[in-house]
Amino acid sequence: MLELYKWHLGLAVPENAIREVKAVAVTDCLFCRIVNKEIPAAIVYEDDSFMVINDINPAAPVHLLIIPRIHIASLNEAGVEDTEILGKLQLLAAQMADVAGIAGQGYRLVNNIGEWGGQTIRHLHYHLLGGKQLGWPPE
Ligand code: 5GP
Ligand code: ZN
Repeated sequence: MLELYKWHLGLAVPENAIREVKAVAVTDCLFCRIVNKEIPAAIVYEDDSFMVINDINPAAPVHLLIIPRIHIASLNEAGVEDTEILGKLQLLAAQMADVAGIAGQGYRLVNNIGEWGGQTIRHLHYHLLGGKQLGWPPE
């Protein structure tokens, strides 16, 4: 279905072109270096697939970054093979919100994509923001 949609938009790309932008670790990627513990961070949680850290420049009383260990540059580079990791990430975000004590009052899960989306680190990550009333729209 998605392939048909891409074909209609003229966006069909060979599968191996997508895979080239993924890797277990990219040496010049800040978040790859953080998940591999080459650079320190305030680690809140980690497992085989994810690391959750405090954002160095928090935009809210709770500002966590949920980072898959695998290097996927952004959601644009994710494919159907990443369905499980993306699903688990959302469930982990809800668990983290619960642990941080912000689940009941509400919070926001944000994924910035590319330049106009405000993405500054090209390693897929989600911001979990809460602990205060958040404004909408976001800017
Ligand atoms: P983006 O702008 O790519 O969506 O989000 C990147 C986030 O990473 C920003 O909120 C920024 O404050 C945070 N950040 C940048 N460098 C570091 C770092 O070295 N450590 C931590 N913990 N967060 C960082
Ligand atoms: Zn990376």
